[in-house]
Amino acid sequence: MNKIADRLQSAYDKIGLISQKYGNSISNIRLVAVSKTKPVEDIRTAYEAGQRAFGENYAQEAHDKANQLADFEAIEWHYIGPIQSNKTKILANSMDWVQTIDREKIARRLHEQRDPHRQPLNVLIQVNLDEEESKSGVSDQEVLPLAQAIIQLERLKLRGIMAIPQKSESFEQQRKSFAKVQACFQALKSQYPQVDTLSMGMSGDLEAAIAEGATMVRIGSAIFGPRN
Ligand SMILES: *Cc1c(COP(=O)(O)O)cnc(C)c1O
Repeated sequence: MNKIADRLQSAYDKIGLISQKYGNSISNIRLVAVSKTKPVEDIRTAYEAGQRAFGENYAQEAHDKANQLADFEAIEWHYIGPIQSNKTKILANSMDWVQTIDREKIARRLHEQRDPHRQPLNVLIQVNLDEEESKSGVSDQEVLPLAQAIIQLERLKLRGIMAIPQKSESFEQQRKSFAKVQACFQALKSQYPQVDTLSMGMSGDLEAAIAEGATMVRIGSAIFGPRN
């Protein structure tokens, strides 16, 4: 076994143990392997070990890697970085998911640029409930109006919510942040029953996220090693 395959297995084992601890099932949690800044060879290795969902943060890099790995038909690309409106075009047809929608303009552009012959692009609304100035994402008040706009765009499919809460070393604090996101997710779901995805939790706050009902976690360095 190589290092990446080993670490990937450890990540799944860890998710399995944590979900068991909180009475959840690992089959309800998807792992997105965050491959930003890592070479395509590392993605190939993870894919060959069975991983299918990969996350990227930089639009041009995401697009280029998706093109280079076009022979992997079952690969699933998730865009998890900030979006500038001049980058929507390269994302609209290279990604399967865009997790960081935080304004209608971006949603509209992705819809207009998505090839109508393809499956709709899966999208998540990014929330920022800790009101951190430096981060993108909408407040809980803005979620439903944005969802209402997205739902009109037939080349997008609204799947749920994504969050990157305030960094904290305290498990209790982490849980508190994730609990707010979970409440927001439930409110959205009650309006739009097709909503099924709550993307939260990274290497450092995985347990708190799963404890609060994450259905998708995003892990980078614990699989691919530290980034420079
Ligand atoms: C980089 C990144 C991750 C993964 O972070 P790690 O600490 O490497 O696990 C998850 N989500 C987002 C949005 C990221 O930018």
